[in-house]
Amino acid sequence: LTRLYTPLTALANVRVDVMTALVSFERVFEVLDLKPMITEKPDARAVPDGGVSVEFSDVRFSYPAAEKFSLASLEDVSTLDGRGGDEVLHGISFRAEPGQMVALVGSSGAGKSTIASLLPRLYDADSGAVRLSDVDVRDLSFESIRSAVGVVTQDGHLFHDTIRANLEYARPGAGEDEIWDALERSRLAELVRSLPDGLDTLVGERGYRLSGGERQRLTIARLLLAQSRVIVLDEATAHLDSESEAAVGEALTHALAGRTALVIAHRLSTVRAADQILVIEAGRVVEHGTHEELLAAGGRYAELYHTQFAEEPAAA
Ligand code: ATP
Repeated sequence: LTRLYTPLTALANVRVDVMTALVSFERVFEVLDLKPMITEKPDARAVPDGGVSVEFSDVRFSYPAAEKFSLASLEDVSTLDGRGGDEVLHGISFRAEPGQMVALVGSSGAGKSTIASLLPRLYDADSGAVRLSDVDVRDLSFESIRSAVGVVTQDGHLFHDTIRANLEYARPGAGEDEIWDALERSRLAELVRSLPDGLDTLVGERGYRLSGGERQRLTIARLLLAQSRVIVLDEATAHLDSESEAAVGEALTHALAGRTALVIAHRLSTVRAADQILVIEAGRVVEHGTHEELLAAGGRYAELYHTQFAEEPAAA
């Protein structure tokens, strides 16, 4: 919901900025000439049944002007041109078959999160297409995208509530068996059993303090319960000890099995397991292959591997 309101709030800010800057009315209209909001077609269809393929076909994208304005200080307003912001994706193409895992790696600001946000249609491409099972996301219903594509971000958004409530959120009406099965597979069952209140233990600020690794595994348990056929995952960067690292890696492998996944990867175990790694730099795919292939190629991935991934424990 916050997302829906962001452009409006941004717009209000822009207006104030613009008025304060006493620019001409013509300029106001230019500023208000924003990209259309994301809309659902009247004849929108559902994601076809079965495993889901993911395809980006020559996708170009710039953030809507309002988003850029919202970051702009008063001085910056004078440099804005009323059109979209600068292009951040310059022709991204790849395809993941049902069940495959694609890992995105690359420097900060390269465009990984932007690519990930186009899949659940938080934004639309300026040109090119994003497709789920060969259907353009612009032809799909919001509800069907929401139920097919699960998005898991770094902090996992645990609620200050019981472990049970945090899990049921992923699948309302989940049975006790399913919950324990998810906890088992995310390597958390033992911990939950040892807590005096078990599943009814409160977590969060005033409750039981989960460690970084435990929080991640609880998020993964949620992922296991949610029946999303596609997972968009931003792996946490939190530094874990090697035991937790291995447990999280194992839990993730279970959670992603059989689903199509787009992962912003921060773990060696993930890039190793990925069917394809896309190296993103400055809004382009600069390299593409498996861990072994890219390492042997000795290019940008090999460089990233030595700086970003190699220090991690090689386990999992
Ligand atoms: P990181 O690893 O740091 O998360 P990233 O590879 O995910 O980086 P993105 O967050 O996709 O990179 O950013 C790509 C570019 O888009 C950057 O130049 C960034 O400043 C810009 N950008 C990201 N989000 C927005 C936004 N909401 N509005 C305007 N520009 C944005």
